[in-house]
Amino acid sequence: MTQRSVEPRLVEHLEITPQVAPKNHPVGSDFLLKTVIENLNDGVIVMDLHACVLHANSRLAKLVRCSASEMIGFPAYDFLSLIEGWSFFGLPPDGSLPSASCEWREGQLRRQDGRQFWAEVNSTLLYDDDGNPIATLITVMDITERKWLEEYLRLMESVVVNANEMVMISQVEENIDPLELRINYVNDAFLKVTGYRAADVIGRSAELLIGPKTDREELDRIRTALKNHESAKAELIFHRQDESYFWADMNTVPIRNEHGQVTHFVSVMREVTERKHTEEQLRRNAFHDPLTGLPNRLLFTERLTEVISRSRNQENNLFAVLFLDLDRFKVINDSLGHLIGDQLLIAIARRLEVCVKRSDLVARLGGDEFTILLDNILDEAATHQVAERIHLELSRPFNLNGHEVFTTVSIGIALSSTDFEFTEDMLRGADIAMYRAKALGKACHEVFDTEMHNQAMLQMQLENDLRRAVEREEFVVYYQPIVSLITGRLAGFEALVRWMHPERGLISPGDFIPIAEETGLILPMGKLILREACRQLSEWQRLYPKHRRLSMSVNLSSRQFSQRGTIDLLRDVLQETGLSPAFLKLEITETAIMENTESAMDTLLQLKSMGIQLSVDDFGTGYSSLGYLYRFPMDILKIDRSFISRVDTDGEKLELVRTIITLAWNLGMDVVAEGVETTKQLAQLKMLKCEYGQGYLFSKPMSPADTTIFLTQANPLEHVAQSFPSSPE
Ligand code: C2E
Ligand code: MG
Ligand code: MG
Repeated sequence: MTQRSVEPRLVEHLEITPQVAPKNHPVGSDFLLKTVIENLNDGVIVMDLHACVLHANSRLAKLVRCSASEMIGFPAYDFLSLIEGWSFFGLPPDGSLPSASCEWREGQLRRQDGRQFWAEVNSTLLYDDDGNPIATLITVMDITERKWLEEYLRLMESVVVNANEMVMISQVEENIDPLELRINYVNDAFLKVTGYRAADVIGRSAELLIGPKTDREELDRIRTALKNHESAKAELIFHRQDESYFWADMNTVPIRNEHGQVTHFVSVMREVTERKHTEEQLRRNAFHDPLTGLPNRLLFTERLTEVISRSRNQENNLFAVLFLDLDRFKVINDSLGHLIGDQLLIAIARRLEVCVKRSDLVARLGGDEFTILLDNILDEAATHQVAERIHLELSRPFNLNGHEVFTTVSIGIALSSTDFEFTEDMLRGADIAMYRAKALGKACHEVFDTEMHNQAMLQMQLENDLRRAVEREEFVVYYQPIVSLITGRLAGFEALVRWMHPERGLISPGDFIPIAEETGLILPMGKLILREACRQLSEWQRLYPKHRRLSMSVNLSSRQFSQRGTIDLLRDVLQETGLSPAFLKLEITETAIMENTESAMDTLLQLKSMGIQLSVDDFGTGYSSLGYLYRFPMDILKIDRSFISRVDTDGEKLELVRTIITLAWNLGMDVVAEGVETTKQLAQLKMLKCEYGQGYLFSKPMSPADTTIFLTQANPLEHVAQSFPSSPE
């Protein structure tokens, strides 16, 4: 830094003699001037034409972090330099004279210590009396703060302008509905999403976004919040210029001025259409059956619950639930495959929809079960009309992949007039009525009544009792003889369970086996029966050597048959009881086999490999499909009682039984005739050379004690001995 000598002429001219007031001039204009300069908010610096500092006020000294005296005589650029390339304080760098006498600029200055600050700089050339420039007067105002604020605002603005979120600013006017306020700013994102041009929007109100799909209640809520100068958040549907709609997540906040008055509302909105659609999709999935697109159980019960609770306040509001179950859907599914089964369900869904009013609800509960909610019906007759329309509609064949498929449906109807308290009760009522319709011969409909209700209650009671019965082992196994029709001798027994109900006495299996199946109680129960029957036979074989070749037939229900553990159970039981598997026969119905076609073969083969014999029970009552007889390794065919009971009176039945017997022989199977009650029936069966018979003619099922007596008799089948003259016992 080199100090130059200050030209005295200049100092003189400017009359800025440093520091001290001239003598005899206590408040002279010079002193006044200096005081003013000293107290200015701006930094002031006077330089000669070589930029040498002649004077600097303390504000300037403060700005450059030097004392004024340190600067005097030194070039100003030693203390302050410019960042941008403009001439230094109005003095061109080449030393030539400035072109303008006054210059005003804004720019960044750098202090001696390297720090920068923003300044507004004013430079004015000072002239002598002859009009020659002699110095420059420079004022420096620190505008860093203002600049920072400007920069901040610019930044903020660019954030707003470039934001992905839509921004809309409207100006508050007194007594104007907040939603009708004029918009005075929208950003690019707003224009992009809405499809408007800025000119279309500015000056109009937010109402231009509102359309038929916009939720009015939400709008009212926002309006109230804004009127109270509160912020409001909402998810709303808005409309674009082309009238298509979009979902927006909107947040509107009031902006206050320094006096605390709300002057604007700023709304920031994000388009969330995609998210909303996904949510909708998820909702749909949760409430709809994916196969048919129909509402599912959840949605159905929700609607039904609404209707039930609404009806509590509305007398005379009649509605009904229809419970539909396809008849023999399983047969179609198993024979034609799941794909066709699915197609059938879809086709049925579509036909059901045309049978009801738009305001009614058709749902698929699952499997082949459908439900219909008929709301606001006139009377019971209206439900019958709908049911009949459904029967008619479904009576036309379905053409599925070239297959012509026929199906019927059983319908149960529950009317609101029955006064169901809960949704589940009403559904259950319709379900019970549907079962009744099925039992009455399918393809019909039944209305739930109190009688059914009572029965259902009994059923429920029975269910509870049965549970307890399994725990307390309230079962007794009865035994019914199976007789050789060739020799007239006892060949074995069928084990038939009885329930010793503590209050109701002996209950037949027909009254509780279906419930046991449905509830799964058949499994623990079947286990008890199997174990007891095997134990009992093993004991008799041991006690009565004459009967050591007797066999025991045990019924295996569908559920037991499909249960994986059954094989292990059999193995354990045989081992435990010491019964040879050759004397055990398992009776399985056609239905049980057909219901488990996939696993049936495997299970049957495993049973066979254990040495157990297999019987087809109740042949002729189930699927009556002979095909499976060829496929499965069965040993014995039991012809159902319904054929045998008429074999002596009905020639046609006789022929049928003859065919069945021939068929069984062709497949290497023995035949047992079930339900032989008369000697005439016995004679016919003997004539047909049927191997075995079972029925009341020989003996009713007996308690274990009675069976033991039966076994110890010399000739227990004496009463039929005359039918077997050639081979007396
Ligand atoms: P099922 O296996 O076909 O048994 C034959 C049924 O016919 C028995 O009825 C028997 O009492 C009856 N019966 C036998 N001979 C005659 C006759 O001459 N005339 C008439 N009218 N009926 C006769 P029950 O004992 O009531 O059993 C009914 C069904 O319950 C059985 O039919 C079987 O499917 C099932 N069941 C019985 N015990 C068991 C068991 O321990 N486990 C399983 N899973 N089911 C069983
Ligand atoms: Mg049986
Ligand atoms: Mg049977």
